[in-house]
Amino acid sequence: MTRKLASIVTIASCEPIPDSDRLSVVKMAGKGWNVVTQRDEFQPGDLAVFFEIDSYLPADDPRYEFLKNRCLKKFVSKSGEMLKEGIRITTCKLRGVISQGLLMPISGNFPELCDVTDGQDVTELLKVEHYDEIVEALRPEIGGGSIAAEVMGKFPSAFIPKTDEERIQNLGDYFETMKGRVFEVTEKNDGSSVTIFLSKTVDEENPFGVCSRNLRLKPEGAKGVPEQWQIVKKYDLAAKLEQINAMFESEFALQGELVGPGINDNRDKYADLEWHVFKIWDIANQRYLNPNEAENLALQMGIPYVPVINRAIKAFDELTSMETILAFAEGKTARGHEREGVVFKSVDDKPFVSFKVISNRYLLKQKD
Ligand code: AMP
Ligand code: MN
Repeated sequence: MTRKLASIVTIASCEPIPDSDRLSVVKMAGKGWNVVTQRDEFQPGDLAVFFEIDSYLPADDPRYEFLKNRCLKKFVSKSGEMLKEGIRITTCKLRGVISQGLLMPISGNFPELCDVTDGQDVTELLKVEHYDEIVEALRPEIGGGSIAAEVMGKFPSAFIPKTDEERIQNLGDYFETMKGRVFEVTEKNDGSSVTIFLSKTVDEENPFGVCSRNLRLKPEGAKGVPEQWQIVKKYDLAAKLEQINAMFESEFALQGELVGPGINDNRDKYADLEWHVFKIWDIANQRYLNPNEAENLALQMGIPYVPVINRAIKAFDELTSMETILAFAEGKTARGHEREGVVFKSVDDKPFVSFKVISNRYLLKQKD
């Protein structure tokens, strides 16, 4: 259910930072992250706990006390009531070196982890939450600007995959295993995920559905039609899905990013609500359409597609190291603002893979 935010890793290398006699840059086996730590905290081969960026740690746990000054994030309601507090792990720069995530030694700190192995997911055990999910869940109370949707039920994940992308830093082996494979590259829109389906298999009684990342939403809430449903009307999605289903004699889910005023800070500064398709899922055949086909289909139906940067690139033949692919992700959006990053999706006929590369420049500029 939850993402693997906290896990057991093996330390691969510890290099002193030239300008500092106290700090080192640590890398982990099979991972592309750099973490700045105290000089002699780790040795290659050690097992450690790694908390990825966007981990939200319990604020009352004394083991994270040292982070409170810098990383405590509180959520306060419009009426001033404390809703939640926790420690948010982010990207930072120390002595000019990027540090992403938190690494902690197991011994002395985590008696509950005495029996762990490399790769083990300890997210739930350590009560680590996903910061973005907390923001999403508390948005109505903290007044995020959008019209609160009411929940109709769970996301139908037995039939449709939830939208998510793994970060390249957790896919270090791709630089070997994905050589030769061809990818589409699109801009990563920094909004909110919406999945729209028309399927009697999913719901016999009520086959048209609109979902956020984790929930199916009612067409109307107490304060009106939520943005996720406003786009249904704007793009005439019920009729268009019916057409697509008929055209391919199947059932489909369109997955896209909702952007616009009031949505996730609207960093790309849209004047109106828009929805950009990024994946099309064939429910009957349980597979994604080829991204190039998905783009054509969306455009043919008059539904915007996320901005395309490249339709066919041998990503790992051209971008051959973690540093190069991370540098590639940095840049401006088509609209001229700092972009969150890019998403790669395979377009060849081998098994579908996709992943995201988040811009470090964007992460460092982000204030909260
Ligand atoms: P994150 O926002 O970091 O959790 O990354 C995954 C999410 O990026 C997906 O769930 C989508 O909502 C969103 N996204 C934005 N643009 C794209 C894109 N071009 N391709 C795929 N997902 C995207
Ligand atoms: Mn996002």
